[in-house]
Order: sequence, then C-alpha cells, then structure tokens
Amino acid sequence: MAEKLVKKTDAEWKEELSPDAYQVLRKKGTEPPFSGKYYKTRLPGTYLCGACGNELFSSETKYDSGSGWPSYWAPIDQANVEIHTDRSHGMLRTEVVCARCGSHLGHVFEDGPRPTGQRYCINSLSLNFRPKEQEDE
Ligand code: FE
Repeated sequence: MAEKLVKKTDAEWKEELSPDAYQVLRKKGTEPPFSGKYYKTRLPGTYLCGACGNELFSSETKYDSGSGWPSYWAPIDQANVEIHTDRSHGMLRTEVVCARCGSHLGHVFEDGPRPTGQRYCINSLSLNFRPKEQEDE
C-alpha cells in the first residue's frame, strides 16, 4: 500500500469515528444491506470519505443497483481510491480503499452499468454526503 497522506493511530481513529463507522472504515466491516443512510439518496452532490473527507464519488455516477448499498459506476478520480485483492470470508473480491487515509470503503464488481461496467458497492458508513447547494455557497 502506498504511503498515506492522512495517518492516524488506531486509538485516534477510534476516538474520532462513531463506533459503527470505525468498524467499517478501520476494521473492514460491512453494514447490513438496506440499512445505510445513502443507498436511496438521489440528491446532487459529492460523497466524501467518512474518515478523512477525500472526495470519492459524485451523485452523477450513482445509480440504484438494487443491492441495498450506495452504488456508483466510477469514482470522481481513479487516483482518489485504491483497489486491493480481498480473500476474506472465503471469497475473492476487490476491495476499495480511500487513497488518502487507507480506510475501507467497500468493494468493486464487474456487473455495473455503462459506460464502465463497474459497480462500486460502498458502505454508507464509509461516506459523508455534501449536497450540491453547500458546494455552490
Ligand atoms: Fe479517507
């Protein structure tokens, strides 16, 4: 893994994040489907890393995958995320991590819509949504 711009100790993350967000972002947990606060969100805006604020996904690439997790067909910039092979839980999956702080976001699958064919399946607990009206202020 590349050197991270945002580096904190486990104790610091634990203090800063809610227990649920800490479990997902720092311990690679997964929120139950249809439980998160963003899977249905359709408002225009930007989804930021819940740990460090890095700009990760735009509402313009968000779509309803039916999975119960926020789904996007691309990140805002490929450089803002890192992709890792994940062999946990007896599955071979591709993990998506924040490139700035190394926090766990979710997984990416090859069954997404056009134009990329990718489905970034991301935990709501890993994100903070910034509505577009706040960006225009
Ligand atoms: Fe981050």
